[in-house]
Amino acid sequence: MEGKQLQSLKNHAETLTRFIIRLTKFYEGLSSDIDNELQTLRGHLAGSPNYTLATVSINKLGTKLQNAHASTSEVVNKSIDDLETDVKAFQQKVAQSSGVQQNAAQLLVKLNQPAQDLFAVLALYRQATRFFAVNAQAASPKPANPQSEPEKNARHYHAILDELNLLIKNYARKRPDDEQLLTIQAKLAQGMQEEELLQSCVVIIRMIVQEAMSEASLSGKVIQSLHKSLGQVSQNVSQTIDLSKASFATRKASTAQMQAQLETMEDAVNHSESLESLKRQAQQYVKNVSSTLSERAQAEQDEQHELLKLLASMQGQLTRLQSQTQSYRKKLAEQIVSSQTDSLTRLPNRQAYNERIERAFALAENGNVKLALAVADIDLFKSINDRFGHAAGDKTLQVVSRHLRKNLSKDDFIARWGGEEFVMLLLGVDSSGLQKKLEALRASLADIPFKFKQEKVIISASFGGTCLKAGDTPDEVFNRADTNLYKAKRSGRNCVITDQETTL
Ligand code: GH3
Ligand code: MG
Ligand code: MG
Repeated sequence: MEGKQLQSLKNHAETLTRFIIRLTKFYEGLSSDIDNELQTLRGHLAGSPNYTLATVSINKLGTKLQNAHASTSEVVNKSIDDLETDVKAFQQKVAQSSGVQQNAAQLLVKLNQPAQDLFAVLALYRQATRFFAVNAQAASPKPANPQSEPEKNARHYHAILDELNLLIKNYARKRPDDEQLLTIQAKLAQGMQEEELLQSCVVIIRMIVQEAMSEASLSGKVIQSLHKSLGQVSQNVSQTIDLSKASFATRKASTAQMQAQLETMEDAVNHSESLESLKRQAQQYVKNVSSTLSERAQAEQDEQHELLKLLASMQGQLTRLQSQTQSYRKKLAEQIVSSQTDSLTRLPNRQAYNERIERAFALAENGNVKLALAVADIDLFKSINDRFGHAAGDKTLQVVSRHLRKNLSKDDFIARWGGEEFVMLLLGVDSSGLQKKLEALRASLADIPFKFKQEKVIISASFGGTCLKAGDTPDEVFNRADTNLYKAKRSGRNCVITDQETTL
């Protein structure tokens, strides 16, 4: 019986040992500290078990497992809180989808129930992951009108590209070897990312500012040098005056000296006792006068020499001043012309037009001259760029500009208003004359044989014109012509609308 009892105890001990070993395997991986202790415990239980040491180890493990449980619960609670926040945020993002809302609400209810165990929490996590994955598409923001936003961006992007192209062309002509410009031009030709585009804009803006500053310093320099030269001249003049004063004093002194000598001579003649002494005194007097005269002549010669020197230096200064002023005037004139000329078409630009319209108005009012204003806009020009490239568009602008200029009279004025629009000031035409003149321009323009990429293309423009009326302001006349241009576009393009037309 004792043997049987011993055997049963041994069997129980073995079962307990196996159970403990399995349990230790289960907890393996929870923390390295617990892992080490579990390994120790397994060592004590393997082979011929040492229950005393095993008990010590089990006690230690008990404490460690309790601590581990507390920190695991903390992590689990924190995870559930985080998950709840995420699901709520997601729920707000997809407020419009009722299906997603429902799933989210269910998930939130589950999350709010006390977590039974780690496995339940893990199951919730799996569910949440699936929920996020399935509804991720619904959460990605879609614009209300799916096409409008990108379209708007593309439009801005192209507008900036166009502007940049124009600016670069302006500057490339002025600085054909500028490496920065060449690089930007090459990139523009290949197509630019938006970020690069912005960087390029910054480069160009910097260039414009630099140029403006150098123009300012150019005038500053000229003014400085004018100051210097004028200062020099005024110094020379005052030196001359000083010199004249000094020489006047010298002459006065020498005249006084001669006067004194003459008096001495007179005295000698009056009191002379003998002819011999008179002769000696006369000789002395002649010697003195002659030396005074030669001193005076020398002084005068020196003075003249100095004066000539001063005059020559003043003349030099003035010549330099004159040539500086001339070159400055030339540069200034060049700057004015270039600031008023459109670099692509070589036509006057809008700034030139603004000045010209004032003069034309004054002439029309004072000289009783008839004045008409017309605006022309190339038809569907954007499609030329789109179909044949920007360079073809530029070439077209140059040809059209040349043609319009050539077909207007010398007294008429034409400027590039901007883009593919032109403004004209026509002298001496009444409303019927204006209609005829613009019609002739329109027809001849449409006859130009354009050919791009082996394709014959008709380029036309629409025209709006108006005649100056008493009391008009420049803006009013322009707006009237522009309104007529708009009507011409609305009437199918390639036509002329003037006031005469509209009143007919
Ligand atoms: P509409 O008949 O209504 O005038 O149509 P449009 O295509 O001519 O008018 P829109 O205003 O839509 O387009 C004008 C285009 O002209 C857009 C712009 O890219 C182009 N453009 C403006 N300046 C230049 C330039 O200097 N060179 C080139 N190549 N294109 C330019
Ligand atoms: Mg146009
Ligand atoms: Mg236009």
